[in-house]
Amino acid sequence: MKVKLIKNILEANDRISEENRRIFNQNKIFVINMMSAPGAGKTTLLEKTIYALKDKIRIGVIEGDIATTRDAEKIEATGVPVIQITTDGACHLDANMIRSVMDDLPLSEIDLLIIENVGNLVCPAEFKIGEDAKVMLLSATEGDDKPLKYPLMFSESSLLLINKTDLIPYTDFDISKVKKDSLSLNPGLDIIEISAKTGKGMEQWYGWLKERLPI
Ligand code: MG
Ligand code: ZN
Repeated sequence: MKVKLIKNILEANDRISEENRRIFNQNKIFVINMMSAPGAGKTTLLEKTIYALKDKIRIGVIEGDIATTRDAEKIEATGVPVIQITTDGACHLDANMIRSVMDDLPLSEIDLLIIENVGNLVCPAEFKIGEDAKVMLLSATEGDDKPLKYPLMFSESSLLLINKTDLIPYTDFDISKVKKDSLSLNPGLDIIEISAKTGKGMEQWYGWLKERLPI
């Protein structure tokens, strides 16, 4: 019975996700569902990306967080429209949460919507929220065993960003193993090595975005 219940929840979620997608498509918005573990550097990556691109691309952000508004405040300081979803303990965003806040964004004035999911390596990948692409952010400090431990995150994503590569010399992180394991789960996965801190690889990430945006 439990299996059936979960299946029904996911089917209901998928229907709302399709509605979200229709609305985003009508407004010509490319939507990213950004997923990672806590502390992988999603918010820093977002800040840098916004400052680099906001003069060329109209960006909007939905920030998912379990409790605080700290990350949303940082994004707000960049000047782009941002909506915070406080999940009140829930460990992922779902389609209905996005549906209930999307009208608070100026949808007709946004080209790229980045949805920062709750930091968690399990269920964010199970719930579609209306995105065009999932982007997985893995930082070198998290260890190189993550793809095989949390395969759905990697098999559902269109792009893997490997962050904090500037710290690799101080860790046992085997980047070739991460790439090999990730590609074994998802042969079509794009992989870009970055350091949001030093700027390494960031142009390549912006290029990935620009290829997908109607600009
Ligand atoms: Mg964050
Ligand atoms: Zn969850």
